[in-house]
Amino acid sequence: MDASPGLSDQYRTRLERIRQREDAAFRERVPASLSLAGRARRTMPGGVPTPWMAGFYRTPVLWVSHGRGPSFTDVDGNTYLDFNVGDVSSVLGYAHPRLTEVIGAQAARGVQLFLPVEAAFGVCEQLRLRFGLPQWQFTLSATTANTEALRIARFATGRQGVLLFGGKYHGQLQETLWSAEGPADRLVPESTGLEAPPPGLAVVDFNDLAAAERVLRRERTAAVLIEGVLTNCGTVLPDAGFLPGLREACTRTGTLLVMDETHTQFDLYGGAVRHYAVTPDLVTGGKGIAGGIPIGVHGMTDAVADVVGSNIADELGSTVGLALGGTLFANALSLACAEVVLTELMTPAEHERTARLGGLLADGIETAVRSRGLDWRAHRFGARSGYCLLPELPRNAREAHLGTDPLFADTRRVFFANRGVWDAISSSGPHVGFAHEEADVATYLGVLDDFLTEMCAG
Ligand code: PMP
Repeated sequence: MDASPGLSDQYRTRLERIRQREDAAFRERVPASLSLAGRARRTMPGGVPTPWMAGFYRTPVLWVSHGRGPSFTDVDGNTYLDFNVGDVSSVLGYAHPRLTEVIGAQAARGVQLFLPVEAAFGVCEQLRLRFGLPQWQFTLSATTANTEALRIARFATGRQGVLLFGGKYHGQLQETLWSAEGPADRLVPESTGLEAPPPGLAVVDFNDLAAAERVLRRERTAAVLIEGVLTNCGTVLPDAGFLPGLREACTRTGTLLVMDETHTQFDLYGGAVRHYAVTPDLVTGGKGIAGGIPIGVHGMTDAVADVVGSNIADELGSTVGLALGGTLFANALSLACAEVVLTELMTPAEHERTARLGGLLADGIETAVRSRGLDWRAHRFGARSGYCLLPELPRNAREAHLGTDPLFADTRRVFFANRGVWDAISSSGPHVGFAHEEADVATYLGVLDDFLTEMCAG
């Protein structure tokens, strides 16, 4: 990530000074975490149980003891008010008493039965109410929901191609980890260890309907996979005609429209699908739907469901079916938790409340920067907020990257951490969760005030 043109050299120098001091203070505060990190390097590559636990941060790895409500506590006893909310995987908050009760009750009845449990009906109904699609399937993560959705789309259409949008992230599935570069839109891998780009893959700019139409007109694309609002490069909202235009182009060219609601479903009730009144062929999601217990979901129209339902593989091989499913998919614990979370805890009223707090957070960020003469904006989409270090909000990922700055993001994070607030990872912005109250937003904004005062004071 390059430096933003919105951050002057004067601020940059001050940030470097703050960063050095705060990094040293952070190390002082976490001796037990440092010691566990040393021990972990003997049994876990990179000293972490999974790479993301190190890769998202430039501070030493924080080892956690427990969480409660909107906060978690590290092994050194430092408590953090959490505005990263596990990148919306822990958006419900920690140790919710109702979820704890459901987990206990389901544990006593068996967490994994390898056969359907009736909680599935309640989850399907809640997802239908949110996204309008009548039929649902379950996996263990949003990545695997997207894997299944693309496989279904390819089989249903008899095509291989997938159309994606720059700045997207849909999980670690190989067919989505590519970016387009240069005037010829050459596909380049975003990670190492990938094979060749899948046939027919195309990546165009978000909000560029004409470019999307050019790809779809070739009629080689099985699916358009898109977040209605980009959320992994800050927040990028769709132009007024973009999503309706895409829907129309998909229908005209026999392409399936797959909307990834993994993040946006927690920004507003019914996510981008409901907010922008889109009618996709498939919807995918996961993360916090079951309160942090692993789950992925993908919904579909009756027409797509017919294709899936009539291609279920027979174990003896008499029917060669679609390569879908997994041993622990739709396990009893995931479904029991999702049913209660969606029915009782993430109600429309609670979504309204978190979206209102998200608006307060975005307003507060914008007021804090503008009152210091910084011509910056706050991202906002319901409960989601964030920093845009330029006067105009971005319309695509290229513009979004110009409005972010790693030095600003990393310095802010460590400054906040040392004052008991865990800020968002740098690809996203602070997010209000279901355990937050208005006072928590005020706490965040108070620390931001101190941070900006020091950055601007010299
Ligand atoms: N879709 C989107 C939009 C995401 O942001 C992510 C993860 N950040 C995923 C899918 C994949 O989620 P998971 O890592 O839980 O499989």
